[in-house]
Amino acid sequence: MSEHQRRTLVSRRKDLKWGRSAREGKGNSNWHGGKYFDDKGYVRVRMTQHPYQVHGYVYEHRLVMELILGRYLRSWESCHHINEVKSDNRAENIFLCSVSEHSAIHREGHTHTMEHKDYMRKKMKGKASKNFKGKSKNIIKMRDTASDE
Ligand SMILES: [Zn+2]
Repeated sequence: MSEHQRRTLVSRRKDLKWGRSAREGKGNSNWHGGKYFDDKGYVRVRMTQHPYQVHGYVYEHRLVMELILGRYLRSWESCHHINEVKSDNRAENIFLCSVSEHSAIHREGHTHTMEHKDYMRKKMKGKASKNFKGKSKNIIKMRDTASDE
């Protein structure tokens, strides 16, 4: 079987599995199980029973924070990714803040407040950088394997 034929078969099989839903939405080439990367690079998880789901999906970073807190996040609560990698949803990379605090963090852009820089440094110290490398490799792999050829 030629490489081209094999690829065609593989993508047909994906079509069968996901059907029409795989083609819906902007993130359709980033499918991976019940998760996908949206157009802004955030991970969304299929959760039709969640009270704050949007079109059947919830942001993964909000779910992680909800698990930590043991309650649902309010609409004015927001999550910041400390290392600014939007798909790095490890508990230690997610910082709970209000929506207005969050936009302040992003307005400052690369000139974060000293406290915030300090906070990020403490959080990221040691193990994190090593774990992070492995994680980003996995994300790339996930994206590659999930692509709709
Ligand atoms: Zn943020």
